[in-house]
Amino acid sequence: MAETIFSKIIRKEIPADIVFESDTVLAFRDISPQAPIHIIIIPKQPIAYTTEIDGKKDASLLGDLFDAANLIAKEQGIDKTGFRIVINNGINAGQEVPHLHLHLLGGRKLSWPPG
Ligand code: AMP
Repeated sequence: MAETIFSKIIRKEIPADIVFESDTVLAFRDISPQAPIHIIIIPKQPIAYTTEIDGKKDASLLGDLFDAANLIAKEQGIDKTGFRIVINNGINAGQEVPHLHLHLLGGRKLSWPPG
C-alpha cells in the first residue's frame, strides 16, 4: 500500500489528537471536523480500500474497528443520542486518503441523504 498521511500518524511522525489506540487500531480527531464529534478510526495494517477486505480473513480486524467506534462513541457521550459511521471508498465517494478509515460523526443532527 502507498504511504499516506495516516501512515505517518501511525508512526507518530506527525501529530494527531489521538483518542484511542490498540495493537490493531488507531483513532484520532479529524483535522477538518464536519460535526462536533468527528473521529477517524483506522486499522494499523495497510489496507487502502474496502475492496481489499476479505470478510473471513479480516473478521477480527473489522470487529476491532467497530469495537473501537462503539467505545469511542460512549467515551464521547454520543452513544445514546446516535452517530454515523461512514466509509468513503474510491473516487466517486470522495476518498482522499487511500488508507481504510471509518469516520465517526456525532454531536448534532445529521442530515440524510448525504451529498
Ligand atoms: P476521506 O475523504 O474519506 O478519505 O477522509 C479523509 C479525512 O482525513 C478527511 O476528513 C480529512 O479532514 C482527514 N485528515 C486528513 N489529514 C488529516 C490529519 N493530518 N489529521 C487528521 N485528519 C486528517
